[in-house]
Amino acid sequence: MAERTLHTPLTDLPGVGPARARALDKLGLSTVADLLAYFPREYEDRTVREGIAWLPADTPVCFAAVVAEPFRTSYIRKGMELTKGRIVDGTGQAAVTFFNQNYVRKALQPGQTYFFYGTLTGEGYRRSMVNPAFEREGAHQLTGGIFPVYPLTAGITNRFLTGLVRAGLACLPQVQETLGDDLRETYDLVPVEQAYGSIHFPASWEALTKARRRLMFEELFCLNLGLTLIRGRRGEQRACPFVRQDLEAFTSRLPFSLTPAQLRSVKEAAADLRRAVPMNRLLQGDVGSGKTVVAAACAYFAWQNGCQAALMAPTELLAQQHQRTMETLLAGTGLRVGLLVGSMTAAQKRDCRAALAAGALDLIVGTHALLSEGVSFRRLGLVITDEQHRFGVDQRAALAAKSGEKDRPHVLVMSATPIPRTLALMIYGDLDLSVIDQLPPGRTPVATYLIREDKRARLYAFVRKQVAQGRQVYIVCPAVDQEDPEGLKAAEQYGRQLQEEVFPDLRVGIVHGKQKARDKQGVMAAFAAGEVDVLVSTTVIEVGVDVPNASLMVVEDADRFGLSQLHQLRGRVGRGEHPSYCVLLSDNRNELTRKRLKTLASTTDGFAIAEEDLKLRGPGDFFGARQHGLPQLKLASLEGDMRLLHQAQAAAQEVLARDPNLTWEEHAPLRRRVEQLFRENRDIFN
Ligand code: ADP
Ligand code: MG
Repeated sequence: MAERTLHTPLTDLPGVGPARARALDKLGLSTVADLLAYFPREYEDRTVREGIAWLPADTPVCFAAVVAEPFRTSYIRKGMELTKGRIVDGTGQAAVTFFNQNYVRKALQPGQTYFFYGTLTGEGYRRSMVNPAFEREGAHQLTGGIFPVYPLTAGITNRFLTGLVRAGLACLPQVQETLGDDLRETYDLVPVEQAYGSIHFPASWEALTKARRRLMFEELFCLNLGLTLIRGRRGEQRACPFVRQDLEAFTSRLPFSLTPAQLRSVKEAAADLRRAVPMNRLLQGDVGSGKTVVAAACAYFAWQNGCQAALMAPTELLAQQHQRTMETLLAGTGLRVGLLVGSMTAAQKRDCRAALAAGALDLIVGTHALLSEGVSFRRLGLVITDEQHRFGVDQRAALAAKSGEKDRPHVLVMSATPIPRTLALMIYGDLDLSVIDQLPPGRTPVATYLIREDKRARLYAFVRKQVAQGRQVYIVCPAVDQEDPEGLKAAEQYGRQLQEEVFPDLRVGIVHGKQKARDKQGVMAAFAAGEVDVLVSTTVIEVGVDVPNASLMVVEDADRFGLSQLHQLRGRVGRGEHPSYCVLLSDNRNELTRKRLKTLASTTDGFAIAEEDLKLRGPGDFFGARQHGLPQLKLASLEGDMRLLHQAQAAAQEVLARDPNLTWEEHAPLRRRVEQLFRENRDIFN
């Protein structure tokens, strides 16, 4: 058999056939290296303890015991076999039952000692146990230590994966050390081999803590190196400086005056845009804070300087709304606005592309369609994206690459997701920040309630009352159709049911992501025009939709949504002068879940909500998988890791002070690790 390496495909390992290989692939595991980097989500304490009679009940424990009598199988009914026996130690005894595992009859021999791992119930001499894991004394495959629990998928058991990792650990000596001896000594970090070994099979809790600390440090260290390198590259890029900036001409045409926060953001962006280095600015502002007009000002400056601008939105609905908004905000300036979305006819798209290439459009608003081949610009000077976490860094880069010249476009990223300070500390390595921390005048706060299923009838009465007062209502569901196995409220069926059974006299509209763009748009337009009273939808209406007459937002199965997402949804109401409400429905009794939802009811500060979300769910969840363009951190939770973060930052700066481009031979493994972490935007090293 060939020597196994880190690159050996998992299919070369015993027990991995095509079906399991597919399941492993779902977990992102295809080579031995992937396996080693696949960390447990928690651990089970299976260190051997003593005393059947006095070990704690109702919690998993591991202990040694002798089989006191042969195990016997009885057949209860078809498909149900019970195998029962008794085990003893010096302190007492326990009755052990296995369901449908009659092989244990032979595996557990009377008079022999085994290690058992399971949950004891009952007191003193009446102790019992169901389906424990067991193995021969000292076998150390299942018991006698701290054991990993991995994130799993259908077809892969924890036991199987644990065995696979154990086999993979044979390749541990091949893992290259990225942290030099000096660095490890300065920051008290264990060597890489030890770290990987202990993160999977720690010899003690202390060893596990050391392993985690080392690996977290490495993660943060590499992240910081990568971000610093990206920033360095940016300084070398050229952009078209927008030297003409007639702000007065732009603001005097607006239907409202800018808030001080908006004006400050416009000025910050304007200063960047005057420079010959590309702007890379994040515009952060709570829902309804008025980010769009800041984007319009930037597009206006681009136009004044003979450049085109592109505004990319995550959905067609939003793109269409942005196009209309931009046309209103820029009316009378002479700036020509176009739209490019997937649902347009081939001829419409062709015309639009031709106009862009010829420079007959100054601002193009669109979806991912803007990234497609065949889209080219005469002179693209500015790229704006709405809701940054839905576009990866690579997608922004793809659009930027369409500028057609050596110049890179300026980039403005708009986000209603307030990035918590802790995360921001790292992200600002790449982005500059403007914050709109002030709502336009005349907004009413949204009263928020968390209710259970038993209040549904009252809720429906409240919906009716709002509609009777001339208002409109959103009802958001977590699923599209009833195929969902978990019985979640689904927009399509629920909408029809509401129309037929609950509100036959009201006008109910339905919107979800599986509809044709044309249908979606039709319903949304009808809702915006006040021709629909109750809009039942999925989160397609999540961001940006603006209907000031809507006064009530109902969220079904609210526990299914992230806090920040719920906050976004709530931001759909409270946009007009009417008192507004948000009602979260959830029957979930989990304490943590209710705590999360109550946070939302108790504050309207998006920033505080995001902090809470981060604390309760961790940064990976916070942004949604891999959508934010930052590398996924595996271990570092940032919350509580601030000291380590600062140390990693200091270490990264020390290394770069000596080797600014990370080109030294001794830094090769480190460089590879950074590249791997930034796999999605590898071009930072070009
Ligand atoms: P968001 O930051 O959520 O994208 P929008 O840009 O959609 O917010 O603005 C929300 C609403 O507030 C829009 O109807 C917009 O016309 C209005 N608006 C924005 N700025 C102001 C302002 N300075 N004064 C009054 N209304 C404003
Ligand atoms: Mg918006």
